[in-house]
Order: sequence, then C-alpha cells, then structure tokens
Amino acid sequence: MKGKIGVTSENLFPIIKKFLYSDHDIFLREIISNAVDATQKLKTVASAGKYKGNIDDLKVRVSLNKEAKTITVSDNGIGMTAEEIEKFINQIAFSGANEFLEKYKNDANAIIGHFGLGFYSSFMVSEEVEIITRSYQEDAKAVRWICDGSPEYMIEDAEKAEVGTDIIMHINSDSVEFLEDTRITEMLNKYCKFLPVPIIFGKKKEWKDGKYEDTAEDNQINDTVPAWTKKPVDLKEEDYTSFYHKLYPYGDEPLFNIHLNVDYPFNLTGILYFPKLKNNFEVQKNKIQLYCNQVFVTDSVEGIVPEFLTLLHGVLDSPDIPLNVSRSYLQSDSNVKKISGHITKKVADRLAEIFKDKRTEFEEKWNDLKLFIEYGMLTDEKFYEKALKFFLFQNTDGKSFTWEEYEGIISNNQKDKDNKLVYLYATNKDEQFSFIEAAKNKGYDVLLMNDVLATPLFNHFEQKFPDKHFVRVDSDVVDKLISKESGKESPLSLDEKNELSPIFQAIMPKERGQFIIDFHDLGENGSPMVVTQNEFMRRMKDMSKMQAGMSFYGDMPDSYNLVINIAHPLVKRVIKEKHEIVTPALNLTTTELLKFKSEKESLLKLKQGKKEEEIPQEEKDLLKEVETKISDLEEQKRKKLEEFGAGNQLAKQLVDLALLANNMLRGEALNNFVKRSVDLIK
Ligand code: ADP
Repeated sequence: MKGKIGVTSENLFPIIKKFLYSDHDIFLREIISNAVDATQKLKTVASAGKYKGNIDDLKVRVSLNKEAKTITVSDNGIGMTAEEIEKFINQIAFSGANEFLEKYKNDANAIIGHFGLGFYSSFMVSEEVEIITRSYQEDAKAVRWICDGSPEYMIEDAEKAEVGTDIIMHINSDSVEFLEDTRITEMLNKYCKFLPVPIIFGKKKEWKDGKYEDTAEDNQINDTVPAWTKKPVDLKEEDYTSFYHKLYPYGDEPLFNIHLNVDYPFNLTGILYFPKLKNNFEVQKNKIQLYCNQVFVTDSVEGIVPEFLTLLHGVLDSPDIPLNVSRSYLQSDSNVKKISGHITKKVADRLAEIFKDKRTEFEEKWNDLKLFIEYGMLTDEKFYEKALKFFLFQNTDGKSFTWEEYEGIISNNQKDKDNKLVYLYATNKDEQFSFIEAAKNKGYDVLLMNDVLATPLFNHFEQKFPDKHFVRVDSDVVDKLISKESGKESPLSLDEKNELSPIFQAIMPKERGQFIIDFHDLGENGSPMVVTQNEFMRRMKDMSKMQAGMSFYGDMPDSYNLVINIAHPLVKRVIKEKHEIVTPALNLTTTELLKFKSEKESLLKLKQGKKEEEIPQEEKDLLKEVETKISDLEEQKRKKLEEFGAGNQLAKQLVDLALLANNMLRGEALNNFVKRSVDLIK
C-alpha cells in the first residue's frame, strides 16, 4: 500500500540536511534511543501482565552491511502495528520535524545540537529508511514500511518471527563515512556508552594468527549501570575513581568527588569530580557530560551549571533539563536555575564536609583546589558565603588558616591607626625575601598568595570587609606597611629633599619605569635603600592584564618608590660627599637663586589686588625674565647634582643593591654592578 505522510512541507529533507550538517552523527543516537525506549516499554507492559513473552534478554543490536550500504538498528522491544506506524511515524514523527523546522528556520544555531529530532534524523544520512517491525500484541502481523524522505511512503505485510523492530538505513552517497566500523564505534562511544540496555555492535575480537578475528561473544559497547545510577552507599572510593577513568581515560587522578542524587523538586543524578587544575582554564572546561536518562546529550554545560563549576569534571543526568531549546532560553529557565543553584550548594556543602572531616587531606590538596574555590568565590555569591568557612590562607611558613583563625592571629598586631586590619602578603618567597624577613622581624605574619586570582580576590574581600586591607609586603618600607601613627614628620626639609632627589634620580634605570625618591629613617641597622611598589598601582596593573577595558593602567609605565634610609651610615656618607663636593660648587648658583626668588616675591606682591590690565607691561616683562632666570638656575643646579650622582660609585652601588633585592637588576646593569663591586673590594 502507498500513502502520503501528513506534513505540509513538500521537501523537508534538504532543509534538515542543510541545518544539521555539522551534527549528522546524532542520527544514530536518535534511532538507538528509540530502540532503548521500545525495550523499556516492553518491560512496562510485561510487568502490567499484558505481555507473556521473555523479557530477560532485551538488547539493541547495531549492524553494518558495507555491500548493501546499510546500517541496521534492531531491538527486541515493543514493536509497532501498522496503525501505530501510521500514527507515530507518518503523522507524529514527520509533523514533529516539520513543526520544529518552522520554529527554528531562522536560527541555525538552535538547531545544531538540538536533541530530539527523533526518527526523522535518519533521513539526514539515508536515501531510504525501512522499518520492519512486529508488535508485542498477540496475533499482531509484522509490517514493512519504506520511505525515501519525500512525503510518500509504502507499507506492506512482512515476515518477522520475533517481536521488535529493525530500522534499516540505506546510507546515501554523501554519508558513506558512516559505513565504517571505526566511525560507528566512535559514535556509539560518544552517545551510547551508558545506555541502560545492552548495545551490541558485532563480536568481540581476538588477536589470532597475526590478525584480529571475531570471537563468538557479542561486543557490548555500553555499561548499563554506570556509577552515577547507583546508590552512594553501594560505591567505594575505587569505584568512583575507576568510573572517572572510564570517562577520561587520560585524566590525572581526581581530588574529590561529589555524588548528586536529587529527586525533588527535580530529578538530577550525577557524579562531579574535582580535577587537578592546570593553569590553563580553557583546557579544563567543558568536561562535564550531560545525559538525559543515560543518553549522552552534550559536553557543553555552560548555562546549565554556574561558570565556575564548568571547571569540574564528571556526569550530570537529568530528564528535567529542557534540551530542545536554545542556550539563551536555558539560562533563563527557572528549572535550570534551580538545578544550577542546587549543584552549587551541593558542591559547597561537600567541600565543607571534606574540610571538616579530613582537614589534613584538604590542606594537602589546597593548591589544586584553590583556583577552583577562588574562582567560585569571585563569581558566585552563594558559593562565596559558604566558602568563607573552608577557604584557606597559607602563610609564608606553609601553615594554613581559615578566615576566622587568621583573623585571630593578626588582629592584635596588625591593625593600623584607623583600626583597619592589614593582611600582609607576598607573591614570591624568594623575590620578596628581604621584605618578608623585615615584616616577620616586626612580629607580622605574611601570607603567600601566588595564584592568578589573588588580586581580584583581595579586591573582593576589601569590598566585603571595608575594615580589612590587603597589602603586599614590598609595597612600602616595613614601618609604613601598617601605619600606626598619623603624619610622622619627614626627616628632611623640602630644600634638602630637592637637592638630594636628583642625585639618585640620575642613577635610576629609566627602562624599568618611574622612580619616586623618598626619604625615611629606617634606623642605622635598616637597609640603606629599599625599592617598593605602591599596592594600588600594582594591583591595577595586575587587573588590567586580566581584564579587557582596563588597559589604561596596563599602558602606564611601572612606578616604584626608592626609599632612602637617611639614618644609614653609608647614605650619610653620600650626603656628606654631596655637601663637600657639590654644595660649594653650587654656592654661587644658590645665592643667585635666592636673590631672584626674593625679587620674584616682591614682584608678585606688587601684582596683588590688581586686575590683569592694571599691571604695567614693564612689570609683567620683568616677572617673566626673573622666572626664566630661576628655572635656568634650577636646571643648572639639577644638572650638577645629577652629574654628581651619576659619578658617585657609592650611591650607585647602594641603588643597585636595592634593585637587586627586588630582582630588578638584570643584564648589563647586573654586569656593571658585579664589576663595580669587584673594584670596590680591591
Ligand atoms: P520521539 O522518540 O521523540 O517520540 P520519534 O520521531 O523518534 O519521536 O519517534 C516517534 C514514535 O515512533 C516514538 O514515540 C515511538 O512510539 C515510535 N517508535 C520509533 N522507533 C521505535 C522502535 N524502535 N520501536 C517501537 N516504536 C518506535
């Protein structure tokens, strides 16, 4: 008998083919899913007493016939009567596809990766599809249906002894790639690895007489009861680990796992693993596999789980996640939001539990866990709140503290004059060694925070706790890291500073950025000079490296402070030399400068209270002349001071030592330093 399929569109086939181009291989998933469903349905009717046949050996068989160019999917499930084919295939399956295309015809992306095109997807790869089926119903007749994707089909009686369905796909010339054993195996491994009914593809092979030969044993490609479908009490640690290796044969050992098992208010099962994190986030992402009743759907779970959780590995299985919708819809779906919130909560609870029960293990694994936890704290408010209980600070002595514990440790000693608690941190124990030592000698504790998220995390903490402040240990001299008293008098007058600054400025390596010269009394035994970098500036620069749109800070030159310890004997010697050598040479300039400056002052006094047009031109010209003189003289003075600085071996040596302590002396500068040191010892 011939008939016409109940759809309006005359030619769906080319449209589907075009849209689903990149995802052709889903046809096998769709056909096998239907076959699995058919076996499950047969079980249901059997348990309702409506089927008396054997249901102990339900399975789906995939076979390939290269000569006939067919792929056949056979099941011993419920089967279909001629009426059912008419209803489910001719009307529903086809009209479903039609409706679907109508809905998404302008949105190719929504179609690609779409789940549930169902039976019709077989036409993406076939020039003809044949169904040979026999319903479970007692005296049901076997039927054969055949169709080439056009609205016309043929249906007739057939010979089939067993209950069940064979779907025979006559592969078209564009799709011959699917007629390869390896290609089919690959698709089966991708989509069918954990289906609940055995999926058989050929026979197990054996190496015999120099080649592989089929054995008598069926080659089952799937594990019908994967770990996530079992109860946690029935699983041992090894079972979780071996399941992980099944999912990721080349993966490192996971750190911890979380078994999810929810049935209210939505269905969700799964096992998530904390992987060992590598530095490159992108490689880590998209490892979670999403299943729907054990059918693989996708491994891109963005939108379904919060961003930071995409760093986890493992499996999620939920029939409640709407899969046949676009990603943007997913993100706003309230069910999906609930699921995502629940996963976050579970992950946080599990971490809290591990921390409580196995703190030592947790601390040992902290280095692998922290990026993940910090990322979560930065991006998910709910997670942040829970994570404060198990987030760990590690200090430079390798000890770990919770947020609360650490606060207890530093709250006595590390409050500044405004009662802010100052958290000192280092990012590199070797490079910042001298600063760490200085801080420790003062009784401070120093944290070690060396991962990429440290800076954003400090910003985040400071926003949450305005009375806490994070300061890198080399951002100032130790006395000023936690300023205990306000506005300590500067040890030098402004004039003195102005005369000393150019001496050191002349020595500073310009290619390393800007240096601000500062003078401070660090005590006779303190370092003679220290290079520091302002906390705020450094942090802004760090952030700009990570975020687009902050390049303003990234483009600015590095800026440092050179703090000169005026109490140090060697610095005193430089200042003394300056007094002995430069000051007399500058005498004349200084006197002249004083003269012009007082002249300028009296001219300015004359101007006072007068409007611009009331001032005689003569006076204006004179002022200009005096100002030029002053700036010329100052320039001369600065040059002389710079000349002195540039030629002062001791000052150079001291500056280089300070740079060296910060790991900022390299290349030629380092070489010169070594030579100069040798000369000085000689
Ligand atoms: P869906 O699976 O989403 O319902 P399909 O287009 O894949 O849509 O299939 C339509 C219907 O055809 C199914 O619901 C089922 O009733 C029937 N069907 C398809 N394949 C089989 C099969 N192998 N055995 C029994 N019935 C089947």
